[in-house]
Amino acid sequence: MTHSFFGGVYPATRKGSTRRKPLAPLSSPPEEVVLPLVMCADGPSVPLVKAGDRVRLGQPVARRGGDGGAALHASVSGRVVAVGDRPHPWGGSSPAVVIRSDGRDEPWEEGPQPLTMTEVSLTLLTQRVEEAGVVGMGGGCSPTWEKLDRAAGRVDTLIINAAECQPYVTADHRLLLERGKYILRGAELLSRCLGANRTVLVTEGDKLNAVESVERRRLVRGGTVRLCTVRTRYPLGAEKQIVQTVTGREVPPGGSPLDVKCAVFNVATVYAIQDAVFRGRALTHRAVTVTGGAVSRPRNLWVPIGTPLRALLEDCGGLREAVDLLLTNGPMMGLPVDTLDAPVIKDTNCLVCLTGLERRPEQSGSVCIRCGKCVAACPMHLAPAVARQALEQRDLARLAKLHLEDCISCGCCSYICPAQIPLVDRVRQARQALERGGFDA
Ligand code: SF4
Ligand code: SF4
Repeated sequence: MTHSFFGGVYPATRKGSTRRKPLAPLSSPPEEVVLPLVMCADGPSVPLVKAGDRVRLGQPVARRGGDGGAALHASVSGRVVAVGDRPHPWGGSSPAVVIRSDGRDEPWEEGPQPLTMTEVSLTLLTQRVEEAGVVGMGGGCSPTWEKLDRAAGRVDTLIINAAECQPYVTADHRLLLERGKYILRGAELLSRCLGANRTVLVTEGDKLNAVESVERRRLVRGGTVRLCTVRTRYPLGAEKQIVQTVTGREVPPGGSPLDVKCAVFNVATVYAIQDAVFRGRALTHRAVTVTGGAVSRPRNLWVPIGTPLRALLEDCGGLREAVDLLLTNGPMMGLPVDTLDAPVIKDTNCLVCLTGLERRPEQSGSVCIRCGKCVAACPMHLAPAVARQALEQRDLARLAKLHLEDCISCGCCSYICPAQIPLVDRVRQARQALERGGFDA
């Protein structure tokens, strides 16, 4: 039995142009990969290489820093040509390790040995995951070893999140369909190490081929992972909403799924975890959907992390129409791309190239008609219209009472607003004002 969560919206899925396209390697490998040292929000990684060094595929090129970050590994073999500032997909630039590929993908031979299921304890799993540089690949890029460390002894339900509720994106769908047996094995590994009483793989009912394929494998394996299909509703894939859907438990404000004895791992992260443990491989590649009405040949690609977005788009035949907006990580929660020279990082699941017709216009100056739709759609029980009004009136005291720190930036409020007010931006500005303790002059 599944439960429901409050709010949410039903955007058109727009996945038809890529959902049947298998994950494919780039037809010509990237000449250069750019590995930003800042991939985790909690701090930068520390480089282990310098310009001129020769590196092999899977070799560590940066380690976790004192404040956070994650290990980074060469995603091609070749020569380090620079450790310096390069464009970042989050905007602006950041220090990065730049590797010129030799086109040979020679593997690093000194990596850890593969382990078997029975050899792995939670301590060993955490260590392997940290060494392999595995992070949350569904967004946020937070180090997975930290999540495992915090989860020790606190979890009764493990949720494998294959709910890809953002429009256009099909990378996780293809991963589940094509590599389901590895994902099931990874789920069993996590379940065993965390001591979960139940393990549930959650996906939407519209991924029928992936659901059938996983169910077949599950029956053959006879494992403990339960499959749960739910109706698509955005933002089902957000951690708090998926916990509520599966267990009926509500994560407290400011809390995490661990507060209600749950741990949630994205399906791509589970794939990377089992790769690190059972094959001794670091996280060097990921699935990325390149799509949108402006793209000539939308596809799902399996690419080295660090590949410039431009190379992905070229592999899909470039643009067939003028592009109005470029986004990574989906149209609802994604980030606008400043430059196609920015690389794929560990949580980049898509590059969406929207035409003017596909893009819903926003009108900053438009007038609120007090319909209340934004309040009804907000899965976090917030009042975006009130936040917008308090922001315009520069009323910090009122803003402070609205619990805006709970906003998950899902974009439901902006999507549903008939006046096309960019509410998610207004809520973000209001939160910044609260953090600063005042408004911009
Ligand atoms: S206020 Fe935040 S959490 Fe609520 S709908 Fe808007 S973006 Fe989502
Ligand atoms: S959805 Fe838009 S128009 Fe309706 S109350 Fe919210 S801000 Fe106002």
